[in-house]
Amino acid sequence: MDTDVVIAGAGPAGLMLATELALAGVGAIVVETLKARSGQSKATNLQPRTAEILEMRGLLTGVDERSIGRVEGGEFAGNTLDYAALDSRYPYQMGVPQARVEEILEDRLAELGREVRRNWQLTGFDQDDDGVTVHGPEQLRARYLIGCDGGRSTVRELLGVEFAGTDATRWTAVADVVCGPGTAQPPVGWSLAGMKPRRRADGTFARMVPLGEPGLYRFVYSDAPEGDITADDVADRFRLFYGDEYELIDVRYASSFSDAVRQVAKYRVGRVFLAGDAAHVHPPVGAQGMNLSVQDAFNLGWKLAAVLSGRTSEDLLNTYESERHPVGARVLATIRAQSALQGPDLERKTLREILAMLLNVPDANRVAADMMSGLDIDYGGAGHVGGRLPDFKVDKGWASRLFHKGQGVLLAHDEKFLAPAAPYRDRIAATVTDTLPWDDVQAVLIRPDGYVCWTAPGEEMTGALRKWFQTGA
Ligand SMILES: Cc1cc2nc3c(=O)[nH]c(=O)nc-3n(C[C@H](O)[C@H](O)[C@H](O)COP(=O)(O)OP(=O)(O)OC[C@H]3O[C@@H](n4cnc5c(N)ncnc54)[C@H](O)[C@@H]3O)c2cc1C
Repeated sequence: MDTDVVIAGAGPAGLMLATELALAGVGAIVVETLKARSGQSKATNLQPRTAEILEMRGLLTGVDERSIGRVEGGEFAGNTLDYAALDSRYPYQMGVPQARVEEILEDRLAELGREVRRNWQLTGFDQDDDGVTVHGPEQLRARYLIGCDGGRSTVRELLGVEFAGTDATRWTAVADVVCGPGTAQPPVGWSLAGMKPRRRADGTFARMVPLGEPGLYRFVYSDAPEGDITADDVADRFRLFYGDEYELIDVRYASSFSDAVRQVAKYRVGRVFLAGDAAHVHPPVGAQGMNLSVQDAFNLGWKLAAVLSGRTSEDLLNTYESERHPVGARVLATIRAQSALQGPDLERKTLREILAMLLNVPDANRVAADMMSGLDIDYGGAGHVGGRLPDFKVDKGWASRLFHKGQGVLLAHDEKFLAPAAPYRDRIAATVTDTLPWDDVQAVLIRPDGYVCWTAPGEEMTGALRKWFQTGA
């Protein structure tokens, strides 16, 4: 074997996965078609749950330092969701271009002694009982291959898995542009108000998103042509929507996304897995894409590491699909619902009005906010089991710091709860603490990805230890 894992694609999913594996000391090679990072802003919104995840690995400070602002709430079908009441240290969307998140993840990977093999396009693979042979500029042999190769995934195509959903009917262009004042000053600062939305009588729309550098904006416009977006097309549309208000100085990158909504039926076929956009594609409605991708990788990373360390049965890997497929399906459902509400006809307008009225009810708003922020993700179980551990103060620091090494965490009011976990000292950090996040709990065992897998009082801890941390099969 050349390595344990080959990861195809160095976007947010591939890089997050690679850092998780590197943290666990598992061998992994990331291959990436692009010679250098494109620098295109792409996604700009980090949802609260993704912020929590990054904090659990000590990465959020770097992201926050490079963020360009905050949106104090979420969005559903054009309605503002109140994030202020969310049970999170980060009750807002952090505005940070995807390119900067990728930079931080790649820097972390370098700190951990790993690098991305660029100008390396996966063109094929063969799998057998022992491993996967990956074809590209050279051949690589690994125990697993993970396709993090985006919406047009080659890995997905070669696997031939069902990719059910709806086809693209329209395209929206996204260009990073430099512009200066014309008859008006371009907006400054990152906020919903700064986006200068424009809607024309024929239903086409555009907006500008300030990207945190003087003069740099993301220009988004609807009804783009299918295929490559040229600088001329961007310039024409810019003039159409903004006239001589602003001067377009440069078009740095231009591409497009479609309204296709699809999800693979299987996230795993033998020794090959799919994560991120390779597993699900959708338009960036409600700012979910990058978040979903990072979270897929975060779910898979520690499981792969546990199996490859030889301590855990291969069955653990099946929980990746059983946990993440429903999460992806629900995000796609929210996007379909929001798309269905768009349109100028009276029926949809009425539906939108009724929804807006309902979302004014605090409890309804809260349910939608929990959903769009990713905080209500629950992998199933009784009581608190399956849900996330909200960050809280343990002694002098935050609980999130206990996860920095990628281990599981056991927190208990009393020493007696720690004994069953003693043989797992190398993979579970155990702490006695006076504080726990819930009054009805005396001890809580948490997986390396921050989801609760056992609490006391209740069943014995041994079942949870065996399921999530077991030594041997
Ligand atoms: C123009 C645009 C604008 C977007 N805007 C938003 C937004 O506002 N909000 C939001 O939440 N989401 C947005 N998204 C979606 C978001 O960017 C994606 O959800 C996110 O990038 C998915 O991350 P990923 O790592 O799964 O895939 P990607 O980021 O697509 O990364 C895949 C990587 O794999 C590489 N690759 C592909 N094929 C191969 C191969 N055969 N071999 C090796 N490497 C390969 C690619 O070069 C790429 O670097 C946007 C996407 C695009 C394209």
